[in-house]
Amino acid sequence: MSEASHQATVMVVDDTPANLTMLEEILRGAGYRVVTAAGGRQALEQAPRLAPDLILLDLLMPEMDGIELCRLLKAAPALRAVPVMFISGLDDVASKLCAFEEGAVDYVSRPFAAEELLARVRTQLALRAARRALERQQHDLEAAVGQRTEQLLNAQRIARIGAWAIDLERDRIEWIGDTHRMFGLPDRSPVSFTESIRRVHPQDRPRVEQAWRDALAGESPEYAVTYRVVADGKVSWIDERAELQRDATGRPLRALGTVQDVSERKAYEAALRQQQERLEVALEAANAGAWEWDITDDRIRASERWARMLGYAAGEVGELTKGRWEALAHPDDQHAVRRALQQYLAGAAPAFEVEHRLRNGRGEWTWVRSVGRTVKRDAQGQASTIAGIDVDISQQKEQEAQLAYVASHDELTGLPNRMAFAHRLAEAMQQSHRTGQPLAVAYMDLDGLAEFNERHGQPCGDRLIAELASRLVACCGAGEVARVGGDEFTCILQARAPGEDLEDQLEQLMRDIASPVVIDGEVFSATASIGAAVLPPQGGIDAEQLLRQADQAMYQSKLSGKNRYTFFDAERDEITREYRAQVEDIRRGLDANEFELHYQPKVNMRFGTVLGFEALVRWRHPGRGLLRPAEFIPLLEEHPLAIALGERGIALALEQLAAWNDSGLETSVSINVTSLQLHDPDFLGRLQRRLEAHPSVRRNQLEIEVVETGAMRDIAHVSALMERLRDLGVGAALDDFGTGFSSLTFLKRLAAGTIKIDQSFVCDLLDDQEHAVIVDSICRLAESFSRKVIAEGVETEVHGRLLLELGCELGQGYAIARPMPAAEVPEWMRGWTPPASWRESTMLPRERVPELFAELGHRAWRNALRSYLEGRRKSLPELDPRACRLGEWLSNARVVSMLGHREEFRRARELHEQCHAGAERAATCARVGRMEDSQAALDKTIDTSNQVLDLLKALRKRP
Ligand code: C2E
Ligand code: MG
Ligand code: MG
Repeated sequence: MSEASHQATVMVVDDTPANLTMLEEILRGAGYRVVTAAGGRQALEQAPRLAPDLILLDLLMPEMDGIELCRLLKAAPALRAVPVMFISGLDDVASKLCAFEEGAVDYVSRPFAAEELLARVRTQLALRAARRALERQQHDLEAAVGQRTEQLLNAQRIARIGAWAIDLERDRIEWIGDTHRMFGLPDRSPVSFTESIRRVHPQDRPRVEQAWRDALAGESPEYAVTYRVVADGKVSWIDERAELQRDATGRPLRALGTVQDVSERKAYEAALRQQQERLEVALEAANAGAWEWDITDDRIRASERWARMLGYAAGEVGELTKGRWEALAHPDDQHAVRRALQQYLAGAAPAFEVEHRLRNGRGEWTWVRSVGRTVKRDAQGQASTIAGIDVDISQQKEQEAQLAYVASHDELTGLPNRMAFAHRLAEAMQQSHRTGQPLAVAYMDLDGLAEFNERHGQPCGDRLIAELASRLVACCGAGEVARVGGDEFTCILQARAPGEDLEDQLEQLMRDIASPVVIDGEVFSATASIGAAVLPPQGGIDAEQLLRQADQAMYQSKLSGKNRYTFFDAERDEITREYRAQVEDIRRGLDANEFELHYQPKVNMRFGTVLGFEALVRWRHPGRGLLRPAEFIPLLEEHPLAIALGERGIALALEQLAAWNDSGLETSVSINVTSLQLHDPDFLGRLQRRLEAHPSVRRNQLEIEVVETGAMRDIAHVSALMERLRDLGVGAALDDFGTGFSSLTFLKRLAAGTIKIDQSFVCDLLDDQEHAVIVDSICRLAESFSRKVIAEGVETEVHGRLLLELGCELGQGYAIARPMPAAEVPEWMRGWTPPASWRESTMLPRERVPELFAELGHRAWRNALRSYLEGRRKSLPELDPRACRLGEWLSNARVVSMLGHREEFRRARELHEQCHAGAERAATCARVGRMEDSQAALDKTIDTSNQVLDLLKALRKRP
């Protein structure tokens, strides 16, 4: 605020009202604010509140004179600075001096001129204003200095900085700011150098003193020392610097110094050092060494440790230039190292990381893992230096290699395993494609190793395998042979000599395997089933596929009797694959209980008694419906699954028998077994256990059907088995008899109580009189060996009748019943009776059997005629009525002499001739395309033929 804008306040104190009024007028007229007081007390009371800028006092006042009042005003702190002017009638020097002594600034004697008074008032007010401005300025200045000082001290405190000054003459150190605190001093009082040094850590004192002496002597250009201070039992680090001021002669006078508390930095440095040390220890322990790679000029600075890790003497390596590094790094790995760097720099990898080999001090290769990161960048932010470590991973690599070896080799033989072999084979295949040299792979499976182990013990088996392995290696070369399974080997075959072909090599392999092996003085020999697959020259196949092909070919060798080799055949492969899928499906079906038994009765056709049932397996296939055995049993002929399926059949049959027994239905069941089942060593044992599990089933309620051809293959075994079955009380039947060309001796050796005539002979009875002869002779044979004989395939009533006439009373076939689910059996049994013709028919006397054959011959003839005319047969049947079977019989001299007198016989001869004539007619018409006439002639002929058959039947019934 400027003085002009300030309306000054003037206080007037006078006991004379007229004086007061006059002064008030003069002053107010000049623009001042005027306050009046009539006496000293009033003035003292009002002045502090009104804060006048000037006080005019009358000297003589009754209550309290002006001098007294002035003294009191000057004594009041708030009013002390307010100028006091006296206005008085007294003009003596003593009064004036007295007034000035009490602090008055002016003295105006009455009377006075108003202008003079105003001039004096103005002067005093101006002085007052100037003083106040000065005061304010001083105050501001002081505040600013205080503030700055505080800021500085704060800054010093924050930065832990302090300062001191030393007067060298007087040896006094003055502390600036709070510096004394750093030295643990209670206040700022100056101390001597000796006193201050006492605060320094005893270990650091000599150093500090030396530095100070050097500085004083001018020996070092500056005084700078870092030391520890012990204050209040606490140690802190101080960084101290000072500058000395000297006189003209160079004598030091003063010094100004700064101190900084660097304890934190020191702690950090110590921690860093510790970390560094720990890192060193870690690097040592990890067998690692550090490096720094300046990638702008491709130089590597490697640490001592790094050099030591690689077995170099200290200083032997030093800085690596590009060329020097290339001499150290493995040539095969350098590319990988560069690539890893590129990837890291391109941001594709979080760190530079690569495993590579370095040449070590012994001239060998050391595997290291390098890991590094950028530590310096150029102005563009591009990495310029990478720092990292190399860790010696040789041991790890060795272990890895060992593990890889173990994982890729067979323990027993030391040969590569399948995985390793596949690798090797792939290599060999590539080479073969390059060189054009033919290549094949052989897959060998030792025959019967499981049995060998069982008989001679696993250790012996192992030695056999080891011996064979070394022979294979000797034959094919190390690395070319692998053990790919317990008893499976593979090898790569390549012509070793010109002209040598694959077959020679395979023969050689077979010989090597087969030549005797001596183990603990005992001589053994082995064979193998081998499959070979040749690499197609056009390629298009990988190692695994080639190996699989050889495996499949091996399987084929197994199937076709073992101890042989087979080449892979793509066409057959397709079949094999399908075959395997089907076998798998059967396995699945077994698991899903999709197999069931149907039952077909075996009966006495004449008396209608039911002998029992044959159990016939059916597969209730989820996708293909109800399947008959022909659709799956043959698939399992050589497959172990046949045993499982057969066992399931036996189990189901026994369960069914037990169930029927429980329900009061007494019957027997025959069940078919395959030859694989028969050769299963535990077949009988299992059967026995099953029977024991069903105590309600009597042993003679069960019969085992063995197919004749199967039994013939190993007659000794089957015959022993049948005897054991007989001992057990279980029946045995020879099934499909007649198909296996059994000799008499064969039948004699088998303890089969029942013979089942193969259905093919029975079905064809009507078409082929030869079959009738066979059926007849089987019946005779069975009779002479006291075996029961059952005819299978009794398809029609006629079949049954003919069989009965031939003396075969037991039958099974569609004319009796089709195979049925077990649930239908009880009802069928209740309702079934044989046809009347069966009940009535009798067995022909032996001498009349030729009549029957003659009749069958005629039936066969007319069937052949029909087939011919219907285009199902190429050749015409015999047209000469005397040359056919019936014609021969009808014209046989002995027959004519015996029956020629009989009307039926003569009539039959006549009609028979008509038949032949009709046949010729029908054939002729057919040849010229007169089909209707041909048909009419055939119909007529059949008609006539039926009459012939009736006549013959009647003849046979003669007494
Ligand atoms: P198989 O033991 O000779 O059985 C008789 C076969 O002839 C049955 O065929 C039966 O249905 C059929 N058959 C019965 N009557 C007639 C007929 O009047 N005319 C014709 N044409 N055929 C008739 P299926 O059931 O198809 O069985 C065929 C073969 O499968 C059986 O011949 C047997 O060797 C075998 N088989 C059936 N079930 C089993 C079984 O559970 N295990 C074994 N291992 N083989 C079985
Ligand atoms: Mg059978
Ligand atoms: Mg049969």
